[in-house]
Amino acid sequence: MTFSRSELIDLLTTTDPAAIEDLWQRADRTRRDHVGDAVHLRGLIEISNHCSRTCAYCGLRAPNTRTTRYRMTHQQILEAADLAGELGYGTVVLQSGEDPMHTGPWVRDLVAAIKSRTPLAVTLSLGERPRDDLAMWRDAGADRYLLRFETSNRQLFQRIHLPKPSQPPTPESGCVSVRIDMLAELRDLGYEVGSGVMVGLPGQTYEDLADDLLTFARLELDMVGLGPFIPHPDTPLAQQNPHTPLPQHDPRHAHPDRPRPDVLTTCKMIALTRLMLPDSNIPSTSALATIDTEHGRELALQRGGNVIMPNVTPTHFRTQYQIYPGKACIREEARTCHACLAIRIHALGRTIGVGPGHSPGYVKRMTQTSETTGHAGAADPPRCASA
Ligand code: SAH
Repeated sequence: MTFSRSELIDLLTTTDPAAIEDLWQRADRTRRDHVGDAVHLRGLIEISNHCSRTCAYCGLRAPNTRTTRYRMTHQQILEAADLAGELGYGTVVLQSGEDPMHTGPWVRDLVAAIKSRTPLAVTLSLGERPRDDLAMWRDAGADRYLLRFETSNRQLFQRIHLPKPSQPPTPESGCVSVRIDMLAELRDLGYEVGSGVMVGLPGQTYEDLADDLLTFARLELDMVGLGPFIPHPDTPLAQQNPHTPLPQHDPRHAHPDRPRPDVLTTCKMIALTRLMLPDSNIPSTSALATIDTEHGRELALQRGGNVIMPNVTPTHFRTQYQIYPGKACIREEARTCHACLAIRIHALGRTIGVGPGHSPGYVKRMTQTSETTGHAGAADPPRCASA
């Protein structure tokens, strides 16, 4: 479904309960028709919290001296991947800060080791990297890459990606967005491509959110992650937009002059993304579960979402991976998290997905590539579309 910018702004700002309910219903129907009732679980492994960047919103930023830094070894990561496999997950997501010790070959050998000992799909979320590295990891078997462009407003992007004092903003310092270009490169290389934005960033407008949605559609993303901005006390954005821990899905809490980092605005972004990209995979994010621990997971799944990324990082590392404070389930063991999520998913009348859970859009793209070239392009044909 296509929307004009002004239609998107109207839907993002509406406080009319009937219009909002209609949006939830349409998103849920579209989700069921296109990606089914299965909720795919991706085991998240936070492989390092070292980071050379200075992103103003993120607790892992290099200047934050209050974080104890860790880096998991190949062996520790392989054990976490095995655990994800044992729990029945079809994918592992390797995420980290931009860690200078993660050289191209180090990541390549890790991906190859996971692919040789498990049937898991491998998603990388390692930040901005040169094309040569991305190509090398794809050749080693990496299936997907997640790189949020954070906001489509270039001025806002620059305001939240501060250069180090005395440094002019350059793409290399992470202060000018190269991310949209990188997403196109990832697609060329045959990755299944994911991106997303934070909702309720300081200074963000409803126009910005509408542009974000139009950008998701233009890039034909396979996955879109959406979470509320949560201020971290040890960052320059500490004092901005303190979120109230109210379940804010009551439309009367909406104040339409600026988008708030709340459940209502985040769920509207999820629902509209589902309508615009019906074949995509959309996670119910931990950031949403953090601002509404009771209902956040479920609300996203009922308003367009079809994926959850349970954390399988060993707990003693996980507590140090504080991109934002108060992260949901931070102290839970992976098995406990899994049991809790399984109950929540079944209570919604949904099932747990099996297999890698590629997005139908990606499967179609790869099938077309193999039909026109006789090869599967840069990718193996995905084995399982809807499982
Ligand atoms: N270094 C990787 C992974 C970053 S963490 C990269 O740059 O892609 C994954 C996502 O968490 C980020 O892309 C950002 O959208 C989100 N995030 C970071 N800090 C946050 C905060 N304070 N509140 C909410 N989300 C945040």
